[in-house]
Amino acid sequence: MTSSRFLVATLNPGKARELSGLLGGLPYELVTPPELGITSAPPEEGRTLEENATAKALYYHRLSGLLTLAEDSGLEVEALGGEPGVRSARFAGDWASDGDNIRLLLHRLAGVPPEKRRARFRCVMAVVACGSTLGLFTGQCPGIITTELRGQAGFGYDPVFLVPEIGQTFSQISAEVKNRLSHRGGAAKEAACFLCDIMNHSGAPTTLKPPVGTP
Ligand code: IMP
Repeated sequence: MTSSRFLVATLNPGKARELSGLLGGLPYELVTPPELGITSAPPEEGRTLEENATAKALYYHRLSGLLTLAEDSGLEVEALGGEPGVRSARFAGDWASDGDNIRLLLHRLAGVPPEKRRARFRCVMAVVACGSTLGLFTGQCPGIITTELRGQAGFGYDPVFLVPEIGQTFSQISAEVKNRLSHRGGAAKEAACFLCDIMNHSGAPTTLKPPVGTP
C-alpha cells in the first residue's frame, strides 16, 4: 500500500453519508469518487451482492490506485420470494427514483397481512488493494415492510422498513441508531476490524477510534 488514502467507492449520497460515519474513525483519509474527479459507475451486472460489490471495488480501485471499499446492498422481501434483492435500486426500472421503487413495493404487497411482510436488508462490502480482493464482509438486518411511509430521514426504502425491536422505521431513527442496527453497520464493523489489522501489521498507528456503532 502506497497511501493512507482510502476510497469509499459509492456515488449514492445516502450510502456515502452512512459510510463516512461508520468508517470515519479509521486511521485513513477517507475519499469518495467525486472528490477524485471520478463520476462514472460500472454496470451492475452481477447475479449476487457479492459479485456486484467486488466488481465495483475493482472498478474504482483500477481508476484510483487506492485501497478501495465498495458495497452492494439490497432488500429481500419474503412474500416476493426475495425480490427486489440485487435489483433493489432498479426495482421499478433502470432510472427509478426511491419513490418509484417504494410505490411498486407497496403495490406488490397490497393486501398482504403484517405477519407475511417480513423482509431483510443485506449488505456485502468488498475491500480491494494491489489489484485483488482482500476480503468480503456482510451484514443483515431483519424487518417488516409497513403499509405506508413513516418518517423523513434516510434514503431508499428507509420509510417503509420497520425494525420490530424498536417499533420504528429506518426513516424515524437517528443516523447513529441506524448505523448500530443496520446491515451496513454490521458489514462495516467487520470491514473496520479487518482494516485496523492491515494498518497494525503495516506499522500504522494502533490507537484507533472504533467506528461509530461499535458497542
Ligand atoms: P446498490 O447497492 O447501489 O445496488 O443499491 C442498493 C439499493 O438498495 C439502494 O438504492 C436502495 O434502494 C436499497 N438500499 C440499500 N441499503 C439501504 C438502506 O440502508 N436503506 C434503504 N434502502 C437501501
